[in-house]
Amino acid sequence: MIEDRSRSLLELLMNVSREVATALDLRTVLQRLLYAALQHVGGERGSIVVMDDLGKPVDATIVFGTQFHDHTTQQLRDTVERGLAGWVVQNRKSTLVTDTSKDNRWLRRTDDSADKSGAKSAICVPLLARDRLVGVLTLVHSIPNSFNEEHLALMQAIADQASVAVLNARLYTESQRTARVMSALAEAAAAINTSLEITDVWRRILNQTMQALQVETVALALIDHDSNDLIFQAAAGHNSGSIPGRHIHNGHGLTGQVITNGLGLIVPSVKQDSHYSEVDKFEGIEMRAVAIAPIQSQGKVIGVLEAVNPISGAFDPDAMVVLAGLGSLAGTTIQNAEYLNRIQKAHQRYLELFEDSVDMILITDWEGTVLESNRQAVLLSGYSKEELRALSIDQLHEVKWNRTGLNFETLKRYDECTYESGLLKKDGSSIPIEVHARRVEFEETDSIQWIVQDVTERKELDALRDDMIAMIYHDIRSPLGNVVSSLEMMGELMPVDETLTSMLNIARNSTARIQRLVNSLLDINRLESGHQIIDQNSIDPQALIRESIRDVVPAATGRQQIIENNMTVLPLIWVDVDMIHRVFINLLENAIKFTPVAGRIRISAQTDGVFVKFSINDTGPGIPPADRERIFDKFIRVRGRDRTVGLGLGLAFCRLAVHGHGGEIWVESEPGKGSTFWLTLPVAQKKTTGQLKRKTGRLTMNER
Ligand code: ADP
Repeated sequence: MIEDRSRSLLELLMNVSREVATALDLRTVLQRLLYAALQHVGGERGSIVVMDDLGKPVDATIVFGTQFHDHTTQQLRDTVERGLAGWVVQNRKSTLVTDTSKDNRWLRRTDDSADKSGAKSAICVPLLARDRLVGVLTLVHSIPNSFNEEHLALMQAIADQASVAVLNARLYTESQRTARVMSALAEAAAAINTSLEITDVWRRILNQTMQALQVETVALALIDHDSNDLIFQAAAGHNSGSIPGRHIHNGHGLTGQVITNGLGLIVPSVKQDSHYSEVDKFEGIEMRAVAIAPIQSQGKVIGVLEAVNPISGAFDPDAMVVLAGLGSLAGTTIQNAEYLNRIQKAHQRYLELFEDSVDMILITDWEGTVLESNRQAVLLSGYSKEELRALSIDQLHEVKWNRTGLNFETLKRYDECTYESGLLKKDGSSIPIEVHARRVEFEETDSIQWIVQDVTERKELDALRDDMIAMIYHDIRSPLGNVVSSLEMMGELMPVDETLTSMLNIARNSTARIQRLVNSLLDINRLESGHQIIDQNSIDPQALIRESIRDVVPAATGRQQIIENNMTVLPLIWVDVDMIHRVFINLLENAIKFTPVAGRIRISAQTDGVFVKFSINDTGPGIPPADRERIFDKFIRVRGRDRTVGLGLGLAFCRLAVHGHGGEIWVESEPGKGSTFWLTLPVAQKKTTGQLKRKTGRLTMNER
């Protein structure tokens, strides 16, 4: 007997299982399961609510006798949340209610009273598939005590058997929906990405949104970089004409919420939404429902996509997923379109710069044939653009093949080179030019860009400078030398007379100053044009400093200043003695000039064995940080602090001279507390000291 029952139960379960599992569509599965339950367990009515993994009802089926009712999800939500089904969901246990009027888990309805046909008894079981709660199944009867424990056990067995099928059907339906969304988005992506012209991109995004969501009106707004306001750029559909240009102040309205949270939202009925306000309205459109998604690019919200009034009256459950997908698609495409726009503008700007450049520019291929030329090229060469195009670069100037390589291979390897040459004009004349050749990508082809600078003026200036130096050399320096030696001779021949001696000393000091200035001017020119210092000798730095101090002492004494010499024994240095002597005199004279009357100037030095580092410290006004570099440039005098005049050449000379020796020079200063000029000069190495030549002038003779 028991065996018979077991066998028939097993058969029943297998039948149910077979029937339920052969369907994939969720509705069909639910209907078949309910039907089997009513048939084998009994009851007049039944329902199944299916839930997602978060416990939210996603679908439901209800059956009265043999009639199915499908669209009752909302109605069953209450039961699942608060009624008997709710208890089963929470406890994950099946339950039997023999009399609904005596069980307060039963959510009472108007037809439940004793004299009406409502449910008087019920069984309710959870659908558990591999520990996942998939739904609840409820069977009811209008007569109390219609179900017993046996019914409950049978029901539970059926539910256990069928729940995997329900889960599979649910997953299948979900994947079907995802597939629909994906294909809608893929279609949209294909349509949107066919253009990168920005307004065209907007139009395509709007069309795709309208099609995918089936709404009356769509609009697209972007965040303005400067104001952070949201500005509507484009719209489509019913009465959308007034939307473009609309501003929504930074963060206001529903769009503001979407931007702040970076999440889309759907307002199914604007009338019942407390957040919906005046700013969200569009002129001439009676808004009923709206969906807004952020437009995102590289993780940043750059705008919103808005869909207004679904034609069917309500948004589809997938609407948000689709709109959000369209939003991120739009973001990438808009960004790309903007990049392209920027590149095009940059290209346009390059072309303008190319055309308007004050220098002649030519583009050639690697054969040297001119491909492109600018206005200045035409002006300078005398050839027309067409004529230039037929020429080879070496017909236009004498190419320095040693710089470019015979087939430009050096240029190809090092990307650029610069040299001086002459431009061969159409009329046969030639002008001096400086050529900068560079490997460039022109119209996507590997090419050479030739920037040709007319250096006629510079050449003329160079010539002028050379003339001036020659003039200083011959017309000032030589006669000055005569004056100096004449003064020396006068000193020796003159009778001893205090007044005459003092006058002679003044003349000697002044000519020495002029000589120093002339020599420094010549040095500046020589060092600037890259000449090396050749006349180097080793000398005791103490002697050099003592000599320099001696030359400036009269000036310091005149201002009652004290010059403190803190020099200790140091190794010999390897320098152009006359030049470095002038460097120290310059620094000392500046210190004297800027130190107030009765102030002090301190000189010291130290060595690391490779360089000797000197410092000349004064108690003058100091030098503001902004000027500490500049003062070493030519013709720089810091205005406003002193009335003393100067050319602003002294420190420029010092820097050139010290750098010429491989040393460094800089200033440290605290405004109001004086300045310290530092400089380093190389220590004479053993082998160089041996082969010393005697340096001219009293300095080396007296002090070595
Ligand atoms: P100049 O020959 O005109 O004195 P320099 O090149 O020697 O020119 O100096 C440039 C400027 O640097 C000076 O005008 C002065 O403003 C500033 N300067 C130089 N030495 C000192 C110093 N010891 N204290 C304050 N300012 C100085």
